[in-house]
Amino acid sequence: MFLFQKIPSAVFSFVTEFEKNGFACYPVGGAVRDLLLGKRPTDFDFTTDARPEAVMKLFRSVIPTGIRHGTVTVLYRHHSFEVTSYRSEESYSDGRHPDRVSFDCTLEEDLKRRDFTINALALDIAGKRIIDLFDGRSDLKNKRIRCIGNPEERFREDALRLMRAARFASRLSFTIEEKTFEAMKRLAPSVSRISVERIREEIMKIITSPRPSVGFEMMRETGLTKTVLPELENCVGFEQNEFHRFDVYRHLLAACDYLPAEKPQIRLAALLHDIGKPASFALRDGRRTFYGHEIKSADMADRIMHRLKFSNSEIETVLFLIRNHMIHYTPEWSDSAVRRFMAAVPPEKRPDFFALKEADAFAHEGTRPNPLFQKEFLDRIAACEAQNAALSLKDLAVNGNDLASIGFPKTPQMGRMLKILLEAVLDDPQMNTKEKLLNLAVNYRKEFMPEN
Ligand code: ATP
Ligand code: MG
Repeated sequence: MFLFQKIPSAVFSFVTEFEKNGFACYPVGGAVRDLLLGKRPTDFDFTTDARPEAVMKLFRSVIPTGIRHGTVTVLYRHHSFEVTSYRSEESYSDGRHPDRVSFDCTLEEDLKRRDFTINALALDIAGKRIIDLFDGRSDLKNKRIRCIGNPEERFREDALRLMRAARFASRLSFTIEEKTFEAMKRLAPSVSRISVERIREEIMKIITSPRPSVGFEMMRETGLTKTVLPELENCVGFEQNEFHRFDVYRHLLAACDYLPAEKPQIRLAALLHDIGKPASFALRDGRRTFYGHEIKSADMADRIMHRLKFSNSEIETVLFLIRNHMIHYTPEWSDSAVRRFMAAVPPEKRPDFFALKEADAFAHEGTRPNPLFQKEFLDRIAACEAQNAALSLKDLAVNGNDLASIGFPKTPQMGRMLKILLEAVLDDPQMNTKEKLLNLAVNYRKEFMPEN
């Protein structure tokens, strides 16, 4: 069988280890699904009739990653294999965890507890055949996500499956089978029972799909967006002005799709970069305006990302991009404006900044920005760089001690003064001498800070 060529040899010998000891073991779930889709899987999950304790005895390096649920991770020939003992689950009264897990069951029962037909395929290596009890292969062929058994019951058991359905639809560009879809619509609000960490993980898996808009549309159509990202739902149908071809929501999705999947944080920034537009909207002289929406959007993204428990560094990266996405270079910019940009957007952040600008422009007009235009901006930045102009406080010809030596008290006012001096130097690099800056500081203080 052709698909066997895509399986690492370690998988064969791993399964043989079980068989030598009288156990059955099958690759199952995502890896089998991906093999049948012609992909080369990286992660293999296995299902076995060996109990977790028995698996731990079979191999030297075994980590009891989820032993309560029957899962251990085996480190085997440079792979890390997740092995779960056949298990069946009894009632889920909280919509998240089974009340009891039983290991006394068959392969068939184990496959039956899985979420979707395309995830319940097992590979019988010795028999060189696919075990497909729920017609998963025909759903794969028809590009369809379908629950095993009664969809409503399955989503009631575990509400995470609602997000997983949207995620797989997005990852694989599949549709959701009608009954499964209808059940999702009915049960969407129950997703609020799931921990925010797991919701965040699913959202990020949608963000890293080839086209995240597929997953976000699935979330919107089923009502998941309303519960999980109500701020995004508020952008649906929110009209902009004559410069835009899309409403705010479709603009956000188009910008997100435009960026590469390998850059999840910029994609997230794209998804949220105008999230504050509905809240910043005002009609002025008959025109639809959104002044200050980048700040409002950054504030809202801050709240959303804290709610979903993103790390501080992820939050910082995304907010920076959102806050600065309205900086528009034009050839009329003075050199001091270019230097202010350089001070605001340090070199390591510029590629992401430009990427988001490009996605934003594309999602406005449907055209890629003129590369010559960006080249002109980059040339001007390079020219300013060549002048070695001061761009931050540490480049100034004076520091706090110099200000103290002419009688400035070490209060927050001193920090303010240094920033004012930097502004002066960004305007005119010739100002960056100790004499000129101290002079400016003394005069400024006399005029504007007499209380000091
Ligand atoms: P991925 O490509 O993301 O790894 P996967 O299908 O392998 O996709 P996993 O989360 O690794 O997904 O889970 C492995 C298998 O376990 C799934 O294919 C599915 O059979 C089963 N599974 C995982 N989570 C659930 C769930 N919440 N409910 C039912 N079955 C699940
Ligand atoms: Mg997996």
